[in-house]
Amino acid sequence: MKTVQDYIRTIPDFPHEGILFRDVTTLFADPEGFRMAVDQLAQPFAGQGIDKVVGLEARGFILGGAVARQIGAGFVPVRKAGKLPGAVIAQDYTLEYGATTVELHEDAFQPGETILLVDDLLATGGTAEAGIRLVERLGGRIVGCAFVVDLPDLGGNARLRALGFDVRALCA
Ligand code: 5GP
Repeated sequence: MKTVQDYIRTIPDFPHEGILFRDVTTLFADPEGFRMAVDQLAQPFAGQGIDKVVGLEARGFILGGAVARQIGAGFVPVRKAGKLPGAVIAQDYTLEYGATTVELHEDAFQPGETILLVDDLLATGGTAEAGIRLVERLGGRIVGCAFVVDLPDLGGNARLRALGFDVRALCA
């Protein structure tokens, strides 16, 4: 039987020379692969009364929307700067080369709501931590962070665990 990992392909030298990019579009395109990934991401968090799934742009929207539907939660996007139409709060973070900013609608949820953070891949953890900071600034309570792929050698898993978060991933 195929696993989630079997549906993910690796593309060399994207987006830069020397990078091995994990391409999850092949996972999303396969009905069985996509169903498996969504089921496995949702399973640990089903029945916990989670209020909102927060998905990180852009592949976190595809997964997060499906997971939200599955666990009976709402969906909230964390977007790159300048994309959300309402009033936002912003969080800067550093990338390998330079810095970037992500944003969250300031009325996306109420203080005390429970939140599951979802993205396709955890590398250094910078993107996820920026999303976590935004959620916490609005008073959201993060109950878990779920990813399809974890690249533990890049430190993100240890970084989020050191902050006290429940980190789940389907494959490495
Ligand atoms: P981090 O901030 O943890 O270093 O990088 C994770 C973010 O970059 C995620 O939002 C993820 O979508 C994206 N990312 C970095 N490398 C890859 C990769 O190899 N494959 C995919 N699908 N996304 C990646």
